[in-house]
Amino acid sequence: MGSTTSLPTFGRGNPHSNYTAAKRSASSAGTDKQHRKQQSSSSNGANSLARSKSCSNANFGKQQKQHLLQQQQQQNGGLESTVEPATNGSQWHKKQKQQQRLKNLQRPPANGGLVGLNNLGNTCYMNSILQCLSHTEPLLRHFVLERRFQPSAGRNGSGLAKAYANLMLRMWAASASPTGADCTSPTELKQCVAQYAPRFRGYSQQDAQEFLRYLLEGLHEDLNLVSVRPKLPPVDYEHLDLLLDDDKADELWQRYLQQENSPVVEAFVGQLKSTLECCHCSHKSVTFDPFWDLALPIPGKSRTSLDACLKLFTNQETLDGNERPTCDRCRCRRKCVKRFHLYRLPSVLVIHLMRFSGERFKTKLNTLVEYPMELDVSEFLD
Ligand SMILES: [Zn+2]
Repeated sequence: MGSTTSLPTFGRGNPHSNYTAAKRSASSAGTDKQHRKQQSSSSNGANSLARSKSCSNANFGKQQKQHLLQQQQQQNGGLESTVEPATNGSQWHKKQKQQQRLKNLQRPPANGGLVGLNNLGNTCYMNSILQCLSHTEPLLRHFVLERRFQPSAGRNGSGLAKAYANLMLRMWAASASPTGADCTSPTELKQCVAQYAPRFRGYSQQDAQEFLRYLLEGLHEDLNLVSVRPKLPPVDYEHLDLLLDDDKADELWQRYLQQENSPVVEAFVGQLKSTLECCHCSHKSVTFDPFWDLALPIPGKSRTSLDACLKLFTNQETLDGNERPTCDRCRCRRKCVKRFHLYRLPSVLVIHLMRFSGERFKTKLNTLVEYPMELDVSEFLD
């Protein structure tokens, strides 16, 4: 395991750089044996991977505890060596307190993040997502280190952000047990999600990816800096088509941010480039759309890789027959080729593997999808 894969890192890296895979499930909480059994059968085939540099340690538990302790020791050593001589004792203490406060904001508590989650009854879909998110740096920073969870000015808030923050603070509380085997219940959070997404009432099995989307969108709604969404004029495609791709993407992104702008969007939302080319006149139509996760198809094999899924997703596709789109230049339906590229990458890339195939009779794909600890997506960027 390289240095980038072993410790939560708290500097924001280049969003266009490699991603580190987070391979952590609720089973690593080590508090719920039954959970492990249920998890394998309960996610309804929707595998969701939250990918983040901060969520990088595949073997949490004791190993992470040790890392954090080591980190704390190193940082404490650094603090001592950087304290400047003070001429006045009270000034020195004041400065030291300020420095400590600042450092407390910049790092998670040592011995924290080890509290597991109780299974409330088929809630492994929720626990696995919460465990991933609890170690996802932008959210950890926002909710636990900076404790910012009040609804933005002008918004009433659903209480979800507060419930999420309360849960994360409990999960990141210093473990009272040397084995880090404490656990807590996400009851309040589940009730808040169910208030606006009734499907999550009760204790039946649910889809982890759907829960993630509802949760992130709910947190975003509470924290959206835009209190009242302005009514925007329709997109002027004629004007946009005159721009270079980069300018076009920027303009559409700024338009999106005029309505949706929160720490959740900043962390999780990216922009996907879609290019449609007419096979008759070679006219290209390019659009840029925001995405919260990438839903990737799985090649029909018994074993494949995440890279192969990304390749399949970004492969050129021919649209013919009934699928022929209308070409803006030919002004009639033409055979076209379509391609996706990743354009703007979020800090945290969520990948959803589409395990259901077929239209009328959905069958589950049990293909084994291997993925690396560090994912290089540069090949799929444009
Ligand atoms: Zn054409």
